[in-house]
Amino acid sequence: MMALATGWAVHATFTQHVSSWHLKTFALIAVVAILQTELSRRLERQRRTLAAGPHVNMTSVWLLPAGVLLPGQLIAALSVTLYCYLAFRSWSGTRPSEAHRVAANITTATLSACAAGTVTLAVPALSVTAVCSAGLTYFAVNTLLTGLGLYLANPAKATVESCLGGMDDNLLELATLCVGGLLVMVLSQEPLLSVLVILPLYVLQRSMLIKRLEELATTDQKTQLLNATTWQDGAQREISRAERDNGSFGALMIDLDHFKRINDTYGHLAGDDVLKAVAAVVKQETRAHDLVGRFGGEEFVALLPSTSKEDAIVTAERIRQRISELVIPTQTNEGEEVAIERRTASIGVAAFPLDGASIEEVMAAADAAVYAAKNGGRNRVVGSMPASPRDIVLAAA
Ligand code: GH3
Ligand code: MG
Ligand code: MG
Repeated sequence: MMALATGWAVHATFTQHVSSWHLKTFALIAVVAILQTELSRRLERQRRTLAAGPHVNMTSVWLLPAGVLLPGQLIAALSVTLYCYLAFRSWSGTRPSEAHRVAANITTATLSACAAGTVTLAVPALSVTAVCSAGLTYFAVNTLLTGLGLYLANPAKATVESCLGGMDDNLLELATLCVGGLLVMVLSQEPLLSVLVILPLYVLQRSMLIKRLEELATTDQKTQLLNATTWQDGAQREISRAERDNGSFGALMIDLDHFKRINDTYGHLAGDDVLKAVAAVVKQETRAHDLVGRFGGEEFVALLPSTSKEDAIVTAERIRQRISELVIPTQTNEGEEVAIERRTASIGVAAFPLDGASIEEVMAAADAAVYAAKNGGRNRVVGSMPASPRDIVLAAA
């Protein structure tokens, strides 16, 4: 790919004429881009440090207009200038060992911009169609090449999201391309007005950083479920709502059986893979508006609004069944590939207002039911029964 990008730039050097307008436009884009990068240097560094998947920066804003308006050699020169500047100024901590990543970014960005420019050659003049087609081509080529690079870097751990990014990442990339599309028109009509994009881009980067910080403060990073504090806040709100509407809800406390043995046998990283797989099952088996959280090490909680205890027990049984069927491919500490299977969970179920008037009381009842499930032999769902001295044991392996 790098050879292709270099070849493209070299070919352009010999075949494409560079006019003084091209040089002036190149210089203007470079200066405005560097000013913007300088202004948001700290934001960019924090965003990059806290990024979970592929990190979307602002370079498309500058490289899309370059792709449409400039010859190949200047596109490549701008790409090298911007990425080297970012690497040295914004991404402090970019070590020599990461040089290949910077080179890969330069290659991907150059090829995406050149492809965008090639599309506009098919249209006689700069038009809405030309700019929109260029933007979409940039997006498609960039997504494809970045995804391929990330996949090849670690095929075993690659997922669709880790390679192609999530919805927010893709929306941000599209947003930068929209600004880039407007910049094409500004640069060809009133070039100096391009400084007006600096502040909106700064605000966009800041709002993305705030969103990421919110995510980190509310989400358990291992499982992507709510963390205990956020879950409890949500549960508190649910109690208030249920009290107001004379409603009810079910609550599940899920504790994996003999989880410590997994760590002891295969190592903590394998244990983490089991936690992630179980979290995914709990999320899949509950509704979008149910509150699903990680309470502690290998304990999960789910609050099911407007759900009776009987229905919550049915959901819990489904989750228990799915966990017992999981086959989790992972690696031992020594790097040996293993599949962990036949793991089980004990689940306690309680309900509001049947088992308590506060979230603490309801969860204490669910916890007692988990304890009963463990004592009953594990791998079972137990619903707490306040009216009766005995718990109902619903399912046993
Ligand atoms: P029981 O069936 O009685 O619930 O036994 P258990 O082994 O599941 O429960 P115990 O409380 O004895 O052990 C829980 C283990 O979970 C101990 C701890 O090392 C492990 N653990 C806690 N948090 C994490 C984590 O984030 N990752 C991994 N891999 N292990 C964790
Ligand atoms: Mg436990
Ligand atoms: Mg346990």
